[in-house]
Amino acid sequence: MKYKFCPLCGRELEEKYSWDEGGVPYCLHDDLMFFDTPKPCIMVAIIKEDEILLLKQSYIYENSKVLLSGYVGNNETAEEAVYREVKEEAGIEINNITYLGSDYVKDKEILMITFVADFVSGQIKKSNEVEGMGWSKLSNALNEMKEDIIGTKVVEKVLNVKSRR
Ligand SMILES: [Zn+2]
Repeated sequence: MKYKFCPLCGRELEEKYSWDEGGVPYCLHDDLMFFDTPKPCIMVAIIKEDEILLLKQSYIYENSKVLLSGYVGNNETAEEAVYREVKEEAGIEINNITYLGSDYVKDKEILMITFVADFVSGQIKKSNEVEGMGWSKLSNALNEMKEDIIGTKVVEKVLNVKSRR
Protein backbone atom coordinates (compact mmCIF):
# COMPACT_ATOMS: atom_id res chain seq x y z
CA MET A 1 0.00 0.00 0.00
CA LYS A 2 1.36 3.39 -1.00
CA TYR A 3 0.91 5.80 1.93
CA LYS A 4 -0.43 9.30 1.27
CA PHE A 5 -0.81 10.39 4.89
CA CYS A 6 1.35 9.60 7.90
CA PRO A 7 -0.16 6.64 9.83
CA LEU A 8 1.29 8.11 13.04
CA CYS A 9 0.40 11.80 12.92
CA GLY A 10 -1.99 12.10 9.97
CA ARG A 11 -0.01 14.79 8.17
CA GLU A 12 0.27 14.63 4.39
CA LEU A 13 3.47 12.88 3.32
CA GLU A 14 5.98 14.33 0.92
CA GLU A 15 8.31 12.46 -1.34
CA LYS A 16 11.86 11.97 -0.16
CA TYR A 17 14.59 10.53 -2.30
CA SER A 18 16.11 7.29 -1.05
CA TRP A 19 19.20 6.23 -3.00
CA ASP A 20 18.11 2.64 -3.51
CA GLU A 21 14.32 3.04 -3.63
CA GLY A 22 13.78 6.32 -5.49
CA GLY A 23 11.01 8.61 -4.21
CA VAL A 24 9.51 7.37 -0.93
CA PRO A 25 6.58 8.91 1.02
CA TYR A 26 8.10 10.73 3.98
CA CYS A 27 6.77 12.43 7.13
CA LEU A 28 8.78 15.52 7.99
CA HIS A 29 7.19 15.67 11.47
CA ASP A 30 8.11 12.09 12.48
CA ASP A 31 11.22 11.89 10.27
CA LEU A 32 10.06 8.51 8.94
CA MET A 33 9.84 7.00 5.46
CA PHE A 34 6.90 4.75 4.63
CA PHE A 35 8.05 2.13 2.15
CA ASP A 36 5.55 0.38 -0.10
CA THR A 37 6.06 -3.13 1.30
CA PRO A 38 3.91 -6.28 1.25
CA LYS A 39 2.35 -7.81 4.36
CA PRO A 40 4.16 -11.02 5.40
CA CYS A 41 1.96 -14.08 5.90
CA ILE A 42 2.79 -17.69 6.66
CA MET A 43 1.20 -20.79 5.15
CA VAL A 44 1.95 -24.26 6.49
CA ALA A 45 1.26 -27.79 5.29
CA ILE A 46 0.99 -29.97 8.41
CA ILE A 47 1.69 -33.62 7.73
CA LYS A 48 0.52 -36.56 9.86
CA GLU A 49 1.81 -39.77 8.27
CA ASP A 50 -0.10 -39.96 4.95
CA GLU A 51 -2.52 -37.16 5.86
CA ILE A 52 -2.48 -33.37 5.66
CA LEU A 53 -4.42 -30.75 7.63
CA LEU A 54 -6.89 -28.86 5.43
CA LEU A 55 -9.25 -26.04 6.36
CA LYS A 56 -12.55 -24.98 4.86
CA GLN A 57 -13.02 -21.22 4.69
CA SER A 58 -15.87 -20.48 2.29
CA TYR A 59 -15.18 -16.75 2.31
CA ILE A 60 -11.80 -17.43 0.69
CA TYR A 61 -12.72 -20.27 -1.70
CA GLU A 62 -16.24 -21.57 -1.94
CA ASN A 63 -15.37 -24.97 -3.41
CA SER A 64 -11.85 -25.62 -2.16
CA LYS A 65 -10.05 -26.41 1.02
CA VAL A 66 -6.96 -24.44 2.02
CA LEU A 67 -3.83 -24.78 4.10
CA LEU A 68 -3.52 -23.09 7.47
CA SER A 69 -2.25 -19.53 7.13
CA GLY A 70 -2.00 -16.28 9.02
CA TYR A 71 -0.25 -12.93 9.27
CA VAL A 72 3.20 -12.57 10.79
CA GLY A 73 2.85 -10.33 13.84
CA ASN A 74 5.14 -7.52 14.85
CA ASN A 75 8.13 -8.70 16.90
CA GLU A 76 7.97 -12.31 15.77
CA THR A 77 9.78 -14.39 13.18
CA ALA A 78 7.98 -16.23 10.38
CA GLU A 79 8.73 -19.51 12.21
CA GLU A 80 7.24 -18.19 15.45
CA ALA A 81 4.15 -17.11 13.53
CA VAL A 82 3.79 -20.68 12.20
CA TYR A 83 3.83 -22.21 15.72
CA ARG A 84 1.50 -19.51 17.07
CA GLU A 85 -1.06 -19.71 14.25
CA VAL A 86 -1.14 -23.52 14.37
CA LYS A 87 -1.69 -23.42 18.14
CA GLU A 88 -4.37 -20.72 17.87
CA GLU A 89 -6.28 -22.05 14.87
CA ALA A 90 -5.89 -25.82 15.26
CA GLY A 91 -4.83 -26.36 18.89
CA ILE A 92 -2.18 -28.94 17.94
CA GLU A 93 1.58 -29.28 18.41
CA ILE A 94 3.95 -29.45 15.44
CA ASN A 95 7.71 -29.62 14.86
CA ASN A 96 10.31 -29.91 12.08
CA ILE A 97 9.10 -26.84 10.25
CA THR A 98 10.91 -26.47 6.95
CA TYR A 99 10.88 -23.48 4.62
CA LEU A 100 9.48 -24.20 1.15
CA GLY A 101 9.84 -20.80 -0.52
CA SER A 102 7.70 -17.70 -0.82
CA ASP A 103 4.96 -16.51 -3.13
CA TYR A 104 3.34 -13.16 -3.82
CA VAL A 105 -0.46 -12.63 -3.65
CA LYS A 106 -0.89 -9.71 -6.00
CA ASP A 107 -4.37 -8.38 -5.23
CA LYS A 108 -3.86 -8.58 -1.48
CA GLU A 109 -0.26 -7.29 -1.36
CA ILE A 110 0.74 -10.35 0.66
CA LEU A 111 4.14 -12.02 0.70
CA MET A 112 3.26 -15.64 1.49
CA ILE A 113 6.09 -17.49 3.26
CA THR A 114 5.42 -21.22 3.00
CA PHE A 115 6.44 -24.15 5.20
CA VAL A 116 5.88 -27.83 5.78
CA ALA A 117 5.77 -29.22 9.33
CA ASP A 118 5.16 -32.52 11.09
CA PHE A 119 2.23 -33.12 13.40
CA VAL A 120 3.37 -34.08 16.92
CA SER A 121 0.32 -34.36 19.18
CA GLY A 122 -3.08 -33.04 20.11
CA GLN A 123 -6.68 -33.29 19.02
CA ILE A 124 -7.84 -30.71 16.50
CA LYS A 125 -9.61 -27.93 18.36
CA LYS A 126 -10.41 -25.40 15.69
CA SER A 127 -10.83 -21.73 16.50
CA ASN A 128 -14.18 -20.03 15.88
CA GLU A 129 -12.59 -18.16 12.99
CA VAL A 130 -12.26 -21.43 11.08
CA GLU A 131 -15.34 -22.94 9.45
CA GLY A 132 -14.03 -26.48 9.15
CA MET A 133 -10.81 -28.39 9.68
CA GLY A 134 -9.66 -31.98 9.36
CA TRP A 135 -7.12 -34.50 8.11
CA SER A 136 -7.31 -35.39 4.43
CA LYS A 137 -5.37 -38.03 2.55
CA LEU A 138 -2.24 -36.36 1.18
CA SER A 139 -2.68 -38.31 -2.06
CA ASN A 140 -6.09 -36.68 -2.59
CA ALA A 141 -5.30 -33.19 -1.27
CA LEU A 142 -4.73 -31.59 -4.68
CA ASN A 143 -8.24 -32.63 -5.74
CA GLU A 144 -9.71 -30.92 -2.68
CA MET A 145 -7.91 -27.59 -3.07
CA LYS A 146 -8.18 -26.74 -6.76
CA GLU A 147 -8.92 -23.03 -6.28
CA ASP A 148 -6.03 -22.49 -3.88
CA ILE A 149 -3.14 -21.87 -6.29
CA ILE A 150 -0.44 -21.16 -3.69
CA GLY A 151 -1.58 -24.00 -1.42
CA THR A 152 -1.50 -26.35 -4.41
CA LYS A 153 2.11 -25.37 -5.13
CA VAL A 154 3.03 -26.04 -1.49
CA VAL A 155 1.42 -29.50 -1.56
CA GLU A 156 3.18 -30.31 -4.84
CA LYS A 157 6.52 -29.48 -3.18
CA VAL A 158 5.63 -31.70 -0.21
CA LEU A 159 4.70 -34.57 -2.54
CA ASN A 160 7.97 -34.15 -4.47
CA VAL A 161 10.04 -34.29 -1.29
CA LYS A 162 8.15 -37.37 -0.07
CA SER A 163 8.57 -39.24 -3.34
CA ARG A 164 12.37 -38.70 -3.21
CA ARG A 165 12.72 -40.27 0.25
ZN1 LIG B 1 3.91 11.78 10.90
